[in-house]
Amino acid sequence: MDAITGRIHSLESFGAVDGPGLRYVVFFQGCPLRCQFCHNPDSWDFTGGAELGVDELVGKILPFRAFYREGGVTLSGGEPLAQPEFAAALLARLKAEGLHTAVDTAGSVPLARCREAVDLADLLLLDIKALDPALCRTITGRDNAGALALLDHCQEIGKPVWLRHVLVPGLTLKRDELAALAAFLAPYTCVETVELLPFHQLGAHKWEQLAIPYPLKDVPPPAPEAVEEARDIFRSAGLPVR
Ligand code: SF4
Repeated sequence: MDAITGRIHSLESFGAVDGPGLRYVVFFQGCPLRCQFCHNPDSWDFTGGAELGVDELVGKILPFRAFYREGGVTLSGGEPLAQPEFAAALLARLKAEGLHTAVDTAGSVPLARCREAVDLADLLLLDIKALDPALCRTITGRDNAGALALLDHCQEIGKPVWLRHVLVPGLTLKRDELAALAAFLAPYTCVETVELLPFHQLGAHKWEQLAIPYPLKDVPPPAPEAVEEARDIFRSAGLPVR
């Protein structure tokens, strides 16, 4: 029996959108946020998912390791840093196996609780939901203090960050908001790239299945021109954009 276990939502052997290269993605169960655009509301409940041990999980990943030479393993969720001891133990094991690791986080867990895991990861995929704390509270239920503290920490220790931001028409896809975020991020040399993710409706059915009122049910995905304009705002601030 593994000494350290965690609650896992699901596993994906060949993820292509959560960090560089082809990746094994471990989706952690449980998230303290309630993002209006969440496409995995079934990952919120900390008592859901299945309990897995570190050894058991590493044993599932290693048979695929030949595929991850240019990629690695990403801890996603849910919020992986909300199970900090388990995340740190898993990252340490993967590191010992020579695998590149990334942690996909919204920074909602105080740094004091999750620093070990953060420092072990090779890369952070940090999702800043909104720069304005009030807007962030509207979108997620909490302000962005944790995410900004995490970004500062990454800058201090030179940890590479792929900064993520979801573009939701009428909510975050606003020229002023985006320009403020771009200007804020520009001095952070730890930010290797900014990923602007167009909002989509692919998770809508999960809200329905769980009978949770979905606040964005009538919001369309952004037009491609609007997404390109948003990218230009970040490029103009000197940031590399994907
Ligand atoms: S942080 Fe991620 S998993 Fe948590 S509510 Fe927001 S989008 Fe969903």
